Formats: sequence, C-alpha cells, structure tokens
Amino acid sequence: MGRQCILKGQQKMKCTRAVIERHGGPEMIGWVEDDLPAPGPGQVLVEHGAVGLNFIDTYHRTGLYPIELPNGLGLEAAGRIIALGDGVTGFAVGDRVAYMGPGLGAYATHRVMPADALYRLPDDIPDDIAAAAILKAATVEALVERCAHVKPGDTVLVHAAAGGVGLLMVQWLKAIGVQVIGTVSSQAKADIAFAAGCDHVIRYDRDEIAPGVRELTDGAGVPVVFDGVGKDTFIASLDSLSPRGLLVSFGNASGPVDGVNLGILAQKGSLFVTRPTLFHYYASPEDRALGIARVWSMLGSGKVEVTIGKTYPLTEAAQAHRVLEARKTTGSTVLIP
Ligand code: NDP
Repeated sequence: MGRQCILKGQQKMKCTRAVIERHGGPEMIGWVEDDLPAPGPGQVLVEHGAVGLNFIDTYHRTGLYPIELPNGLGLEAAGRIIALGDGVTGFAVGDRVAYMGPGLGAYATHRVMPADALYRLPDDIPDDIAAAAILKAATVEALVERCAHVKPGDTVLVHAAAGGVGLLMVQWLKAIGVQVIGTVSSQAKADIAFAAGCDHVIRYDRDEIAPGVRELTDGAGVPVVFDGVGKDTFIASLDSLSPRGLLVSFGNASGPVDGVNLGILAQKGSLFVTRPTLFHYYASPEDRALGIARVWSMLGSGKVEVTIGKTYPLTEAAQAHRVLEARKTTGSTVLIP
C-alpha cells in the first residue's frame, strides 16, 4: 500500500542517466531523460546522492573492457531507497544504501537495482564518502587481505599511491603494520602519498623504480607489488620483487599488459603474478558481507580516511573522465546528481 502511494506520487518524476552509444573519448558520454523507472520483483529504486568515478569507467567507455552497446556507465553510487518492488525484504523506503555493481548505470540520478546488490550505509558515512570509497576500499580489502595475504612487518610497493585506490591502500597497509613504498608522478602527489603514510615515495616520472626499491630494501626487493598502472610499470614491478614474490597486477591505467613470456617469471626469481578482479572476491553473499563489514570497520576506525579530491555535477562526467585520464586527480572523484 505504502509502496503504491510512493510510485503513484512519483509518476511524473524524471530520471537523468548517461548513455554510451559508441566507444571513444569522453565526448561519447551522452545523457537521456526518462520517466522514473518502477522497480520489478526483488528490485528497489535508489535515488542517488553521489556517484563514484572509477578508472574502470574509462575502460568501459573506450571499449578496452568489452560491453554491449548502447549501455549505461558507472558501477558505484550511494543514496536512499525511494520505492520497493515486490518480494523485497530487509529494506524499507528511506534506507540509505550503496552499491558497486553489478551492471553499468550508476551515472544517473536514480537507478533500479537488485536488492541483493545493496549494502546498508552506516549512519556516520555520508553519501559522497560512500560513493568515493565503497568500490575502491573493497578492492583494497580483497587485494591486501584475501589475494596477497599481506602480513604485518612486510614491505610492499604500491603504484599510483596518490590515486583513488592508492591512497586507501597506503592507509590500509599502514593500519595493519606494513611498510609502504609508493610511486607517484609529481612532487605534489609525493607529498600527498607521504601524508597518507607512505614510508618512502619514488617519483617514477623521473627516477627508476626497481633500483629505488632495491636501495630501500638493502637489495632484497619486496614480497608484494600492487600495480594498477599496468603496461608502463609491469617490468619494473617484476624487477622490484624478491624471489618468489607476488605481483598483483590489478589495472591498466597506462594500458593493458599483454604478450608476456612466462619464462621471465622464472628468470626474475620464480615469481607469481595474479590479475585479479574485485568481483571474483565479492561473488558470494558471505564474501560480500564479510568484505564490506571489514571496509566499514576500517573506515569507521578512522585509520583509513577517504579523500575526495574533486567533485563534479553528474552531467559533467565527461570532464571528470578527461581530468582522471590526464593524471590530474588525487584521491577519489565524485559526481553529484
Ligand atoms: P586512480 O585515481 O589511481 O587514477 C589512475 C592513476 O594511475 C593516475 O592518477 C596516475 O597516477 C596513474 N597513471 C600512471 N600512468 C597513467 C596513464 N598513462 N594514464 C593515466 N593514469 C596513469 O584510479 P582508480 O583509483 O580509479 O583506479 C586505480 C587502478 O585500480 C586502475 O587501474 C583501476 O582499473 C584499478 N582497479 C581495479 C580493480 C579490480 O578489481 N581489478 C577495482 C578497482 C580499481 P600518477 O600520476 O601518480 O602516475
């Protein structure tokens, strides 16, 4: 009954959402206005308070990661539920929630989502912080704790340490007692990476990475490298590892790593390489519940703080993409409907 009233009251409301008809540059992000959609069985309608910008959005836009066209864009948003579909239990109208997929379409004022993809937001986490962090912090949780099993006392290398994932990862690693060497492309970013807790920072715009890591580790190298830069840093990442070390190659900001001869892993020290994606670590309801509980606990503890470097109106997403791809951002970028 309450549900019908809500939908009836909103029948004339409109929703604005991004659409990609063809792959290409930021100018490919178009906008359409629709009637507010009604949630089907098992779904809810979320009114977005904030939308998270992620580098993966640029891969979907360019086609580096194949998607069907036309399609929406964006994986991550936070807001409040304004209507429930049939059969939804455990949520009520007015509940504050966030999500990080599945499917594209977060660049929108409103979105119909499966109820089981939603995470309830703690009261002390505002929409913009949640949208800036949920996907990125869950990535950090999965990569640090369940993929690489980093241990207190380890020293690890984190590329793009002043970026969205990077700043969260540096703080997370410090919170669990790890020494962190970060890489960045400018002095301004180095200052930010140090402030986040990096013990050492290598300016990879001017200095060689692997010799720097060897010098900082008395020649030993590091047991784990987290590399979201991809193509430009792949070999330097391998060269920074200690024997039997692990390269967690989790992104392609500079382009994808391809054409690898596995023999180099033997030559460089019987190395391990994994190419993880968050969604395989958040596939089951149990993994999702445990992972997100850990994320909220880390954010709530104050040991991991979320930095929103830039905020744009939602419909200026194309400009936000340009700035992100030009390496001009630090921390997270958020789009506000
Ligand atoms: P960032 O905020 O980290 O932005 C990317 C950063 O990469 C830039 O700021 C820049 O830092 C660095 N970079 C190096 N070379 C280039 C280049 N040629 N072009 C652009 N940037 C470059 O982005 P996110 O935090 O959103 O994502 C970080 C990485 O994590 C991405 O590769 C993303 O795909 C990956 N990711 C992977 C996930 C997974 O499940 N596998 C989940 C989430 C993110 P600097 O100027 O210091 O070099």
